Amino acid sequence: MEFQLSDEQSLLVSTLRRFIGIELHPLEDIVEQTGELAVEDAERILKNSRDLGFYAMNIPEQHGGGGLSTLDWMLVEEQFGYTTDILIRRAFGNVYEILLAGTPEQQERWLLPSVKGRRTFSIAFTEPEAGSDAASIRTTARREGDTWILSGQKCFISDAHFSDFFVVTAVTDQEAAHRGISTFIVDKGLEGFTIGPDQPMMGLRGTTHADLFFDDVKLGPETLLGPEGDGLKLALETLGRVRLAQIGARAIGKATRILDLTIEHARQRKQFGSPIGEFQMIQKMLADSAMEIKAARLALYATACSIDRGNEAREEISMVKVQASETLGRVVDRAVQIFGGSGYAKGLPIERYYRDARIYRIFDGTSEIHRTVIAKALLKGAPQLYDLVAQ
Ligand SMILES: Cc1cc2nc3c(=O)[nH]c(=O)nc-3n(C[C@H](O)[C@H](O)[C@H](O)COP(=O)(O)OP(=O)(O)OC[C@H]3O[C@@H](n4cnc5c(N)ncnc54)[C@H](O)[C@@H]3O)c2cc1C
Repeated sequence: MEFQLSDEQSLLVSTLRRFIGIELHPLEDIVEQTGELAVEDAERILKNSRDLGFYAMNIPEQHGGGGLSTLDWMLVEEQFGYTTDILIRRAFGNVYEILLAGTPEQQERWLLPSVKGRRTFSIAFTEPEAGSDAASIRTTARREGDTWILSGQKCFISDAHFSDFFVVTAVTDQEAAHRGISTFIVDKGLEGFTIGPDQPMMGLRGTTHADLFFDDVKLGPETLLGPEGDGLKLALETLGRVRLAQIGARAIGKATRILDLTIEHARQRKQFGSPIGEFQMIQKMLADSAMEIKAARLALYATACSIDRGNEAREEISMVKVQASETLGRVVDRAVQIFGGSGYAKGLPIERYYRDARIYRIFDGTSEIHRTVIAKALLKGAPQLYDLVAQ
């Protein structure tokens, strides 16, 4: 067992930290205050990130990406956790691996431009009546000769107004239940496809979230991603590593940065003639946060290594999703407490972190749903989830 970064990994982490410190940190407050990232800033971030090789690093080299192992990808995402979600999205790309399931023609048309940063896309699964229960969607795609006719509505879609296309689930066979859902690539601008207004959120400033409306949108046969009826299987197979990265690793990075700021504050802030860090109740909070971050990070790396050994690690990913996002929630809550009134005040970073962190326990499967996944596996017999000897 190795618990040390290689020289290459150390270089990757330190270069990335420098990039984030120089390019992204100065923009955080501006985006928070204005609610948007200026186009010229977004373009500069993309260019500089691409020049340094950070953009779409998770995608295999043969598709123009960085070809990172899962572990190295997690190291990268953990560093990106040091900044806000929208800046990560612009600097790293959020190129979901689901497009790797496409035909060579689909990869040429949709994956390659995404890896180069020329087009961006979002995943659109959630509907007003189908959130956790992803199989209960009502959006349909019915076949008419060679084309598909898409009708329905998606909601809460991240970055909706900035995306050029969407990966959308739709029912293609009403009788086939789970096996009757397929996935389509839907370009913005098609007749009958409208994007609703921004739904303001508690946090995550700098981007938009919106409903998508499909009113008999005509889709060509080339837009079906993966085999017909395999939509949910495709999502299950391709979104796990993304979840580990975008939620697990980023949450741990965020928690680490918050703890850094909190320790600094506990050193500086004096009450009753002493730095507040000398009070035992403050010390307990700092120690608890450090212990929880460390445990979550080890679980993240162990899961990443397991995937790199060829395992699917579905339940382990769920474990990290819950552990990391809930650790982030506790760490930021303690930070507000330790910062006192300035932790609650707008304009200082802790209040923003508090709002931004809350969604991590909800999107990409709530804590409850992931606990259900873990518990079902345990009840079927999966001692390897908690017993090293059984692995
Ligand atoms: C900021 C933001 C960004 C998002 N981005 C996207 C996106 O880009 N693409 C996309 O497709 N979706 C996106 N979503 C949707 C997100 O994934 C869903 O909100 C999430 O999956 C939960 O679904 P829901 O909101 O319908 O809650 P519900 O499914 O209605 O759940 C409500 C509560 O019931 C609990 N619950 C439900 N079922 C069970 C069960 N079986 N056992 C125990 N408890 C249960 C849940 O855990 C939760 O606490 C986004 C949401 C937000 C807020």
